[in-house]
Amino acid sequence: MTGDILQVKGLQVYYDTREGQVNAVNNVSFALEKDERFGLVGESGSGKTTMATALMRLIKAPGRIKGGQVLLDGKDLLKFSNEKMRQARSTEISMIPQGAMNSLNPVMRIRDQMIDTLRDHGVTSTKSEFRKRVDELLERVGLPAEVAGMYPHELSGGMKQRVAIATGICLNPKVIIADEPTSALDVVVQREVMTTLRLVQKELGASVIVIGHDMGLMAQFTERLGVMYAGKLVEVASVRDIFNKPLHPYTQLLTASLPSLESKQVFRGIPGRTPSLLNPPPGCGFHPRCPKAMEHCSRLVPALQKMATGQSVACHLYDETTDSTDSPGPSGNVELKIAGSSSAAPQH
Ligand code: SF4
Repeated sequence: MTGDILQVKGLQVYYDTREGQVNAVNNVSFALEKDERFGLVGESGSGKTTMATALMRLIKAPGRIKGGQVLLDGKDLLKFSNEKMRQARSTEISMIPQGAMNSLNPVMRIRDQMIDTLRDHGVTSTKSEFRKRVDELLERVGLPAEVAGMYPHELSGGMKQRVAIATGICLNPKVIIADEPTSALDVVVQREVMTTLRLVQKELGASVIVIGHDMGLMAQFTERLGVMYAGKLVEVASVRDIFNKPLHPYTQLLTASLPSLESKQVFRGIPGRTPSLLNPPPGCGFHPRCPKAMEHCSRLVPALQKMATGQSVACHLYDETTDSTDSPGPSGNVELKIAGSSSAAPQH
């Protein structure tokens, strides 16, 4: 791997609802290396899809990107004009959205849909050249050329997902975001789709962010994982470290809840429920469910800090010193505004 292709810094995405402000992505930072396969995992509602959508700048009202930077090859996508961003989608950064296989136009042949995408991005070509390009793309994802002349209803779920991948890579993007690319597919097809994605990524030399909640599948496909909880990244580490020596109590519970072939064990779930992002718990968002919670966990927001092992974790268990005053501590802890309190500090 040779340097970062994408750097996300302090990304914040809010939804303004009638009930109040929902901080769906709350000050998230991470980097994606060139040629890397990075996975984002977490329970439903943890902010994974919102983050992917924000990276593409496709957040719609009442959502908005409140702040942060999304640096692709050093250029901040959040500063691009709308037209420049439209061009960057597919050519620089591309997304295979959740349920992409169901978003194909049912009354258009696959070929015409793919040519439309190419034309939308200013590609001009002769009819035969377009046909050739579509055939090549389909071949790349393991589909025969005949698929080009078919309608979506004539294809299986796995084939449609491959078409979605072919469309996603049609302009050779540097970064591909795949949001739950295997949801609604059976186990065998899931593996085939992930293998296709990996082959395509290698051929293009692209970097991939895969979003999912199937830890087993993610472990097979990705090299590094980011664990999200309640709109924040709580741990980032290699797949090996996430499974062998997870640091964050939430990651520990997530990995402990996976079935094992080696030993018979009673399934252990994670107690409690994911918090509402409308009214998240103060301090560490995981504290109401955390078996290792300490007194100050309900008051201080833990910052994501890099450990000597190379893992990054947001948890007070790893603070060298815990600052319980109102000012940010050495690890960036910030005292939360507590109802009725006079010390009002923003949540980071
Ligand atoms: Fe648990 Fe405290 Fe760590 Fe949060 S900061 S995960 S509550 S130990």
